[in-house]
Amino acid sequence: MRFLTQILPLLVTGVATATPCSSNDTVLERDVVVIGGGSSGTYAAMRLMDQGHSVVVLEKNDHLGGHTVTYTDPDTNKPFNLGVVVYHNSSIVRDYFGSLGVPLTNINLSGGGREQVFVDFSTGRVVDGYTPVSPEALGAAIQKYAGIYAEKYPYLSLGYDVPDPVPEELLAPYADFIKDNDLGDIVQQVNSIAGCNGNLLERPTIYGLKVFSPLLVQAAAAGFINAASGNNLDLYKAAQGRLNDKQSVILQSRIKKVTRSQDGVQVVVKTPKGRVVVKAKKLVLAIPPTIDSLTSIGLDLSSEETELFSKFKGFLYGSTVFTHQGIDNKRSFGNVGTNTPYNLPTLPGSSSIGPLLAGNVSTNKISAYFGGLETDLTEQDIKNLVKGELDNLANAGNIGQGEPDFQYFGNHAPYHIHVTPEDIRAGFYSKLYALEGQKNTFWTGAAFVDNDSTLIWTWTESYLLKLIQDSLK
Ligand SMILES: Cc1cc2nc3c(=O)[nH]c(=O)nc-3n(C[C@H](O)[C@H](O)[C@H](O)COP(=O)(O)OP(=O)(O)OC[C@H]3O[C@@H](n4cnc5c(N)ncnc54)[C@H](O)[C@@H]3O)c2cc1C
Repeated sequence: MRFLTQILPLLVTGVATATPCSSNDTVLERDVVVIGGGSSGTYAAMRLMDQGHSVVVLEKNDHLGGHTVTYTDPDTNKPFNLGVVVYHNSSIVRDYFGSLGVPLTNINLSGGGREQVFVDFSTGRVVDGYTPVSPEALGAAIQKYAGIYAEKYPYLSLGYDVPDPVPEELLAPYADFIKDNDLGDIVQQVNSIAGCNGNLLERPTIYGLKVFSPLLVQAAAAGFINAASGNNLDLYKAAQGRLNDKQSVILQSRIKKVTRSQDGVQVVVKTPKGRVVVKAKKLVLAIPPTIDSLTSIGLDLSSEETELFSKFKGFLYGSTVFTHQGIDNKRSFGNVGTNTPYNLPTLPGSSSIGPLLAGNVSTNKISAYFGGLETDLTEQDIKNLVKGELDNLANAGNIGQGEPDFQYFGNHAPYHIHVTPEDIRAGFYSKLYALEGQKNTFWTGAAFVDNDSTLIWTWTESYLLKLIQDSLK
């Protein structure tokens, strides 16, 4: 075997050259190989490293962070978080940021005092008779909701540790849960947390509950935090630096083959400047676990894994930034439906259109968040959709005429990865969790926990790390 200390610096800078499985391969040996350097993979890697294990993170992008994306406004040079914005003010978040030397601050989500106008983007018109739920009514409904959740579904607050059989009420449409518990006042709020990207009311209740966990309710009441610089990618830059110091990250990885056996795991990776073979005792898979994404890395899926992961589907979700001469930065528009239950907006569509803001800092740019059921819309389809909504708003006199000039576009599909109620009834999540540790593989990410970084890290601490540690003994 080559002398690793000579090879590793080359590897990290992408200079390693070799042919896979030949004597010229650059071979990297680690306790754990982590595939995917987003929220879950980076956290797992950092914590395993803290615990004295050697790791390597293989990330396809040229930076870590996954859904954490930042747009830097060229006119003001200010960063704006367009993916992950908020974290819970919890000890896990504070410890993680603290360990990487990234300062945190309380985040101001007040919208900088902008007027909020509710319009149906599919017509451009204000919806007659629609008034948002008052803060008092919303607060009372959330309190009632949290009480029901704590009493009946405590096992859902972190992860999918569902009982067998899964209670039928969790599989019935969320609309039934709302109606049965007289919780109509929370629907707009939950839909907004869900990113307005799925048919919330028709989805199984379990997903509506997962979107708004009691831990999130508590965090919202206490106030959220984020990177003091305003750039949440700072966390990942710091993690990248720490991993780099230990030759433990390969960016722009193109994973060709993943083979698992009793003895461990072998991953063949193409890097910009050569091929690397990673040999590890354990594998942590932290990429979106759809069948397309797993087959794209040449994973030697068992028939059970193929069956389970083929069931996962996602939604469309993302954001865009543009300039538009017809919009000023004094008002924000929220999308509400005209004749829809609880005035939920029509899909696909934008949930909000308004000034690009961070606290009291604003720009001359406009941001829009879009969502829908179909993940196969192209960038052009989505830009046409947003442009159509802007034209509707202008034609109804809510904004001036103009053309959007797109400056940033980020599509995070497949988002909110989910399965059908029939799959859940048939024990999908028990079978999914039973995969942990099999074939020397551990699975993590939003599909296993929630679309919330704090909850993913909390679940990693309370559940996953111990399983990995025990398996390494
Ligand atoms: C617009 C938006 C706003 C959000 N706001 C918040 C928020 O305010 N607070 C919050 O807590 N959460 C928020 N979330 C949710 C949060 O981002 C996710 O829950 C979290 O990122 C999920 O972590 P993950 O590790 O599962 O996936 P990701 O963070 O997406 O990480 C997956 C990683 O795998 C990499 N990858 C994929 N395929 C491969 C491959 N073949 N080889 C190597 N690497 C690969 C990806 O590049 C990515 O880095 C938001 C999400 C979006 C989209």
